[in-house]
Amino acid sequence: MPIPIQKTFTYSVTDDEAEFLKKGMRVAVSFGKTKMFTGLVLNIHEKAPTLYEAKEIHQILDEQPLVNDLQLKHWQWISNYYMCSLGDVYRASLPSAFLLESETVVYKNDTFQEESILEDDEFLIFEALQHQSQLTIHQVVDVLGKKKVMPIVNELIKKSAIYIKEQIYEQYKPKLIKYVRLHPSYTSDASLTALLEELSRAKKQRDAVLTFFQLSTTKKPIKAKDLETKAKVSSSILKSLVDKNIFEFYEIQIDRINYVGDTNDLKQLNEFQEVALKEIKETFKEKDVTLLHGITSSGKTEVYTKLIQEVLDAGKQVLFLLPEIALTTQIITRLQVYFGDQISVFHSKYSMNERVEVWHNVLENKTKARIILGARSSIFLPFSNLGLIVVDEEHETSYKQFEPSPRYNARDAAIVLAKLHKAKILLGSATPSLETYFNAEQKKYGFVALNRRFGNVQLPKIELIDVKEKQRKKEMKGHFSDRMLKLIQEALALKEQVILFQNRRGYSPVVECKTCGVSPQCPNCDVSLTFHKFRHELRCHYCSYQRAMPNSCGACGSNTLDTKGFGTEQIELELKELFPDFKIGRMDLDTTRGKFGYQKIIGSFEAREIDVLVGTQMLSKGLDFDNVSLVGILNADSMLNFPDFRAHERAYQMMVQVSGRAGRSKKQGNVAIQTYNPNHKILQQVSTTNYIAMYKEQLQERWQYKYPPYYRLIKITLKHRDYNKVDMGVNWLFKALYNSFGEHVLGPTAPAVSRVRNQHIKNIVIKIPPKQSLVSTKNQLIKIKSTFDAVKDFRPIRFIIDVDAY
Ligand code: ADP
Ligand code: ZN
Ligand code: ZN
Repeated sequence: MPIPIQKTFTYSVTDDEAEFLKKGMRVAVSFGKTKMFTGLVLNIHEKAPTLYEAKEIHQILDEQPLVNDLQLKHWQWISNYYMCSLGDVYRASLPSAFLLESETVVYKNDTFQEESILEDDEFLIFEALQHQSQLTIHQVVDVLGKKKVMPIVNELIKKSAIYIKEQIYEQYKPKLIKYVRLHPSYTSDASLTALLEELSRAKKQRDAVLTFFQLSTTKKPIKAKDLETKAKVSSSILKSLVDKNIFEFYEIQIDRINYVGDTNDLKQLNEFQEVALKEIKETFKEKDVTLLHGITSSGKTEVYTKLIQEVLDAGKQVLFLLPEIALTTQIITRLQVYFGDQISVFHSKYSMNERVEVWHNVLENKTKARIILGARSSIFLPFSNLGLIVVDEEHETSYKQFEPSPRYNARDAAIVLAKLHKAKILLGSATPSLETYFNAEQKKYGFVALNRRFGNVQLPKIELIDVKEKQRKKEMKGHFSDRMLKLIQEALALKEQVILFQNRRGYSPVVECKTCGVSPQCPNCDVSLTFHKFRHELRCHYCSYQRAMPNSCGACGSNTLDTKGFGTEQIELELKELFPDFKIGRMDLDTTRGKFGYQKIIGSFEAREIDVLVGTQMLSKGLDFDNVSLVGILNADSMLNFPDFRAHERAYQMMVQVSGRAGRSKKQGNVAIQTYNPNHKILQQVSTTNYIAMYKEQLQERWQYKYPPYYRLIKITLKHRDYNKVDMGVNWLFKALYNSFGEHVLGPTAPAVSRVRNQHIKNIVIKIPPKQSLVSTKNQLIKIKSTFDAVKDFRPIRFIIDVDAY
């Protein structure tokens, strides 16, 4: 059952049903007094349960298993390792359309026209939804006057006549990139000669046409913007050529399931990539997991493509994991050029129907789902025949799911998945996680390095700018040092693009009254509200709370409210004033909502419609832009002063990664980092891109303070609305754990934001020494938890276990 209970349940079936049923099929069953769920068949047996009477199932929902054996084994591992119920994994794995239950709400799809394809019962539901905007499955039962409704609802979803709640409805139109091609009437040489003759007096138009021919020798689609820049003509010139029927505009939408463009051969690897490829294959002879440590822009993606090709040729499936949906936009375009429509994309911004479609395509091992490109949840797809998993940017923390359960790390779960399929797995990164590098050093994983940027471009020059000194000398303008401004000006003057990194969104994270010192707080969370200037709002970044920015202080009434600290929005506004002639863009959570949110911004930046792009850590993840010559980091200190044992490792990774966006194609790029603390060891290591120095030093500290990769961590979080209840619970729990594990239990502590959505939060961490068994530690913990749950006062407290917590 898709519920957070450790147990499985037995239902009764007839002989015929038993004959038909297979493991991995879904059945509609009732649960408790009134609930209806979609259960999954795990086993067909003849042992009646002793503690309760087995109920009959309502209906079998599948004709073939929807979930295969390998998946069930994988789920079982996730459930054991991450200490959650199998039902939690089941719920997380399947697109919600597969999990209809009594409370599921269905809606009519207003764009659905083909009523004629509906069966009678289907039509009745569809019609009921004309009168009532929504129905629960319960109500559908009433409408049809029968209990067995799930397949009918399923069919309506399949036909796109209705949809269920989780589906994101698209309000954003994808931003299409405009391309230029020659009008079909100009295909012969003769007509072209005539054309150039005809344009001999319209110099600009002639320039545009000649440049077009130059560009078309590469056989790639030609962007209108590129043609304008290269031919030095305005968009009105292109427009007039289109009006004359010489050119025509067309558009390509990048993000789609069906790819119809041409495919090209794989790129020829350079000698360094060639060696890396050979070494990877060599390591795969002995090891299942290999780390490719390749510096930014060394061309890791092209190395992956060679491996992918070989696996496809062997008739196997490939899973390509990416940490961030934003990245899929670029990678899919790159891979589609080689692999055409053998690629499917799977992530949470895809609509439910699209996810259902991908699931079926993978299950049936269809050609168009041979390569799955996806975010962490794609490890749950019904692969039957995986040959290779690539985990790109393996160090990324977004591979770890925090909420809800299962709290898995997709990289680690992928390693287990690969093992189940006897497949190989390649972890790639310019800044590997300490754990992975450590495993490679210990020879648990194979290791291959790629230390040269493609095209022999040098790694960017990194300079540190001392903000304290700049302030003393009055050389700051807003949040920019004179040096940073000079570098931006120089880049822009050469028509190059700039990326500015500020790891905080909004205008300013703290508003403070200058008279009494009080800051407006979120009523639901223990945190200051962030000021968003454009909407003149205060917002909480932990819950959805928002309100208008007040004119005066809520505590003392004076109108002396001041803002402190800065986020991306403030930087964007300052830049607009400093560089009024240039186009400034912003990429953060606030500007990338909707399915095509990322694509719109990344597309405009690629098309050079944006000169300076300001953004949060989204910008640091493997994006490939060819005209960025400067990356600026505005406030390095905010990353360094984070109270977390991984803070320094992460700060290093983030800064090196974002720096890696500079100077990728032609000449060496520049990186400027503003800081109050230029002597900080991490900043020194970043400025020399000295991964090994960072690794050694951090590893030393991890050993000394007993952290991963030496010790494992299990974090326990308790939450409740009533502070005293949590406090009592956590103290009891600490004592119980201390009796078992002694000094290896840390806590109880309150996190930096100790109340979120009105829930008070307390943490305890168990450190597990290298020689202590993980399994027996977990068993001990489970025992203590069940004693905890047996105390009536503690039962309402949420008890969250996070294994390998971040
Ligand atoms: P990484 O993933 O290591 O940061 P990429 O794979 O994005 O690097 O490569 C950086 C750039 O170099 C990309 O624009 C890519 O197209 C180009 N590139 C890499 N290898 C080759 C190759 N063998 N031939 C042509 N271009 C390449
Ligand atoms: Zn005040
Ligand atoms: Zn809040």
